[in-house]
Amino acid sequence: MTQNRRVRVRFAPSPTGPLHIGGVRTALYNYLFARHEGGDFILRIEDTDSQRFVPGAEEYIMEALEWCGIKLDEGIREGGPHAPYRQSERKEIYLKYALQLVESGNAYYAFDTAEELDALRKEAEAQGKSFSYGAAVRGSLNNSLALSEEEVKARLAGGNHWVIRFKMPEDEVVEMDDIIRGHISINTSTLDDKVLYKSADSLPTYHLANIVDDHLMEISHVIRGEEWLPSLPLHYLLYKAFGWTDSQPRFAHLPLLLKPQGQGKLSKRDGDKFGFPVFPLEWHSAEGEVSIGYREEGYLPQAFINMLALLGWNPGTEQEIFSMDELIEAFSLEKVSKSGARFNQDKAKWFNAQYIRSSSDEFLGAQLKDMLAQRGIEATADRAAAAVSLIKERAVLIKDLLPLTLYMFEAPKNYDEKSVNKFWKAEDVERFKVLREKFAGLDAITVAETEPFICQWAADSGLPLGRMMNSLRLAILGISQGPSIFAICEFIGKEETLARMDAALATLGTPAE
Ligand code: GLU
Repeated sequence: MTQNRRVRVRFAPSPTGPLHIGGVRTALYNYLFARHEGGDFILRIEDTDSQRFVPGAEEYIMEALEWCGIKLDEGIREGGPHAPYRQSERKEIYLKYALQLVESGNAYYAFDTAEELDALRKEAEAQGKSFSYGAAVRGSLNNSLALSEEEVKARLAGGNHWVIRFKMPEDEVVEMDDIIRGHISINTSTLDDKVLYKSADSLPTYHLANIVDDHLMEISHVIRGEEWLPSLPLHYLLYKAFGWTDSQPRFAHLPLLLKPQGQGKLSKRDGDKFGFPVFPLEWHSAEGEVSIGYREEGYLPQAFINMLALLGWNPGTEQEIFSMDELIEAFSLEKVSKSGARFNQDKAKWFNAQYIRSSSDEFLGAQLKDMLAQRGIEATADRAAAAVSLIKERAVLIKDLLPLTLYMFEAPKNYDEKSVNKFWKAEDVERFKVLREKFAGLDAITVAETEPFICQWAADSGLPLGRMMNSLRLAILGISQGPSIFAICEFIGKEETLARMDAALATLGTPAE
């Protein structure tokens, strides 16, 4: 392996649906590694499996990466020195390489039909075995290793469909290295002859296209999910068969993202079951099914990324809050764990709450302004920012900003029954009426004016201040919880405060003693 080569990594999704958060994490780790090393980050679309292609998935992937702040150096939109970056547009490249392997004796043509293979599978199953197209059987099947040269030529010329299969060496130990998992070795006797190329659609399979493109695109490190580990021996052998071992990339297989409870890979069904998103953005399937996304649920991309980064990577310190730049600075593949990382929705929410707290009032105000507008409430940017400044400690999701501030823009339409029963008794109403007159006598209803004045008055007259504040809150907000009622009264102003107090008196009246 050449030392000191330029770091070039790729995220190589197949557009078979929306990008799962496990896929986003793979992209993120590739990106962090590339930036940390001063290298390049490439997006390659692996769309050679036309049957699994899902329209819109490619756009979704790019939009998701953009939302996350993961920037591409080369890709299908960005272009780059190795364009095109969509495998279906590189179709012509692969056959030559597949033929090269046939030529060198590392691969062969196979003509077995789907029906023939199916019959073999069934036959094996009937004997309690599983069929594997490999060294033990290849000599007796319809392929260029078993048939005569003339027969092979005739079949190729005759327009029959054929595939090219890798000829897995027999009883050979493949020695492999993984940055996260260390040294791995496996005997090839457990491996089969994978299909590399199919004449039916003139397309390579994943294995061939992936190796050829990583080579041509000068990829230095392959960082991908653990589900690809079983393919690693084949990939090593392909590099060897092509004579590319010296420039072969180094590999790092990332641990799985596990279900919140127990074992197993985090799936879309877990998300549906527990009500948390497993996709970065909302996804609408062709069948009309909608899957919720982090963006639409009210997560900030910085919080989402911070949470994901720590699912499988441990900085080795107590630090939990990392900006993208800090992640780039601290990231290393050596600190990625071997074992699966359990997803924790509470932790995801915790991160979001932290990021909301540290966001500017202007930014959060702009989000609130949009949500208010959708409800037909016009608020200025300044008013919206002032409103969020009072409640941002209480918000977990961006969408919480609306219910937490709505009463600042709209008088309550009804009053919470429990609070009425508790804080609107005859004696509360008597005090409330006095309070209303005191408020009316003040020049302005500001926190500076009201708070010391009311506290002093309550203390001098021996009145239950807490109770009085709850009655006031009930009248102003319709509920008896919320942030400082003095701050809210200042926010809505004297006129509105008095109007809401009068409305409460009129609507709720005075209960009997
Ligand atoms: N197309 C493969 C996938 O969807 C890429 C695997 C790899 O990175 O080699 O995951």
